[in-house]
Amino acid sequence: MGGRRRINSGASVRAAAEAVNLKAHSPVDGWLQRLGFALLPSRCLLCGEAGIRARDLCAGCRADFGLNEPSCACCGLPLPQAAAWCGRCLKRRPAFAATWAPLRYAPPLAGLLTRFKFGGDLAAGRVIADVALECWNAAPPARPDVLLPVPLHVDRLRERGYNQALELARTIARGTGIPLLPDTLQRPHPTPPQSGLGALARRRNLRRAFAVRAGTVLPAHVAVIDDVMTTGATAQECALALRRAGVRRVDVWAIARASTRQK
Ligand SMILES: [Zn+2]
Ligand SMILES: [Zn+2]
Repeated sequence: MGGRRRINSGASVRAAAEAVNLKAHSPVDGWLQRLGFALLPSRCLLCGEAGIRARDLCAGCRADFGLNEPSCACCGLPLPQAAAWCGRCLKRRPAFAATWAPLRYAPPLAGLLTRFKFGGDLAAGRVIADVALECWNAAPPARPDVLLPVPLHVDRLRERGYNQALELARTIARGTGIPLLPDTLQRPHPTPPQSGLGALARRRNLRRAFAVRAGTVLPAHVAVIDDVMTTGATAQECALALRRAGVRRVDVWAIARASTRQK
């Protein structure tokens, strides 16, 4: 328990994704989880109060997750007042068509996302995925034919042990019935971490970082899933790769949207 699964250096991204699958969803985990639900009351991961609906999150902390409204219908950027698209999207249309990002990236949700992404906290990931599905059910966006998680390069995957976007995508795929293609979108080249970079540097850092698995035939409409959308640079590069592969419409789905301006 607790140890991260190590992935052989020779493993392909596909093998890595399957290993992640085993790590996060082994039958033993499921059994222990069910037993845990039966024996222990749920506890809020943020404040320790009683959870609601067998979820490790209390009603008060859930209410503190800010809705991302109003926001740009294209890139999800939080806007001070209602407008269909933000100035930047109006000036230069991104390669993706629409963004579904129901919550704002702010405390306390931001803390939970950090624990999930960088702290190996899979319980935080389950809560986040559960809230994402709740938001989706409350106001479903346009329905794509398939879901594609934003991939990690295999080096990063080995370091972290799991891809947070894939974990989120699994819950959304299960809850919505939309098929998930876990390893169709790939990240063949390692890139330095995006955190700490400005918007322009993020775009440069990611240029041509993503590719579609050779020989894949994709449907007309897909959604790319990530945990957080910050400047939109990752979304843009994924969308460009998918459009190059013949996809007509790419949407972006993320649980939280940062208010960082794209300069
Ligand atoms: Zn709480
Ligand atoms: Zn916009």
